[in-house]
Amino acid sequence: RALNPNEPEFHQAVHEVLHSIGPVLERHPEYTENGVLERLIEPERQIIFRVPWKDDDGKLHVNRGYRVQYNSALGPYKGGLRFHPTVNISIMKFLGFEQIFKNALTGQGIGGAKGGANFDPHGRSEAEIMRFCQSFMNELFRHIGEHTDVPAGDIGVGSREIGYMFGMYRKITNRHESGILTGKGIGWGGAQVRTEATGYGAVFFVQSMLAVHGETLEGRRVAVSGSGNVALYAIEKAQQLGARAVTASDSSGYVLDDAGIDLGLLRQIKEVERGRIVEYAKRRPGARFVEKGNVWEVPVDIAVPSATQNELSLESAQMLIANGVRAVAEGANMPSTPEAVGAFQESDVLFAPGKAANAGGVATSALEMSQNASRQRWNFASSEQKLRDIMSDIHDSAFRAAESYGTPGDYVAGANIVGFERVADAMLAQGVI
Ligand code: NDP
Repeated sequence: RALNPNEPEFHQAVHEVLHSIGPVLERHPEYTENGVLERLIEPERQIIFRVPWKDDDGKLHVNRGYRVQYNSALGPYKGGLRFHPTVNISIMKFLGFEQIFKNALTGQGIGGAKGGANFDPHGRSEAEIMRFCQSFMNELFRHIGEHTDVPAGDIGVGSREIGYMFGMYRKITNRHESGILTGKGIGWGGAQVRTEATGYGAVFFVQSMLAVHGETLEGRRVAVSGSGNVALYAIEKAQQLGARAVTASDSSGYVLDDAGIDLGLLRQIKEVERGRIVEYAKRRPGARFVEKGNVWEVPVDIAVPSATQNELSLESAQMLIANGVRAVAEGANMPSTPEAVGAFQESDVLFAPGKAANAGGVATSALEMSQNASRQRWNFASSEQKLRDIMSDIHDSAFRAAESYGTPGDYVAGANIVGFERVADAMLAQGVI
């Protein structure tokens, strides 16, 4: 803490992992003897840079860009870029740290990283977004590469932004290197199912947790927060599997639609018009908008928080539990506060941490890298089947690790243990570097 002051999100993420791996360190003294923990907590490289750009009125703005290249023991650095006004080094490091274990869990040979900028895309014109992305890549390009670091999207960065950044990379370097970014458009190197993967994967994870107890999603009521990339496709998959998703939200409030979210309308508003969630309630008979409301007050069987970190408090967890929630799967990164996680674990709620539940996005990004490297294109059905298999493997390995360390059903411990052991073993084998 003395070395990293004023980084509460980073401390929170590290604390959660350290809490889980105590028993692993006892069983494997070689990790401690070789300083694996100390080396793992310190990022291999942190890059901070200036991003100057002009708005449509010719006014100059200067934002701060980041890329935290956290750990490459398992493969090239991999992790998303976030454009949001709250971005700072604490948030970049918490996300990068989590990414190491998440990527290890996928079993695909990718290291952990995160990046972004404290830029607020809301209300910016298409031309302003393009200029910002170009300026951002004008520095980032020198730090990334197919075998070095492969960024992707996150909050505020979708296929539009990836497109502008890819274009700039290609212009600066005179190289069409498909493998330098993932989340590209389908027509120019993107992979089927990448857009849907994080949300779909979180719902597949719920399916696996329920299956252990002989239960299914059929007829269950689902609350999803957010209305971005993860949320939209969590809603879609939940509905395809026979559940009824009844909520969506953004930072202005949430909508409740007891008939089940009309995904076509929601996508039109969010993906095409880039509008606010209140629009949904205006256009959908029977739906209600709750301004600044807490979506977790809605009685549901399944909750999939898919907006941002620390959006689900202890009070929210207690409401969900009192309303009889059966399973919670984190579509977002660290959306539940530590106190909320504690409350879920003390009850009989099935709880899936983001590292495990939202790993489908990065896993499918790794599939995109494979297709780019081999110049192949896999179809939607086979890509979705691969995603389903990966999520099922992540579930099973976390489940088994929790059992083997005497905490059956604790997916937080299980996911941390599996991720940690894979990275720690690679670091041991590669020596003190
Ligand atoms: P998007 O930018 O597509 O959507 C984010 C959604 O969350 C928007 O509805 C946004 O509302 C809402 N939101 C963001 N910040 C806040 C906030 N401070 N308070 C309330 N609502 C907020 O992002 P993604 O869907 O890609 O990402 C969502 C989460 O999932 C993040 O935690 C991300 O790290 C995680 N994740 C994403 C992956 C991916 O593949 N995209 C992979 C793994 C994890 P508004 O527009 O009002 O800000």
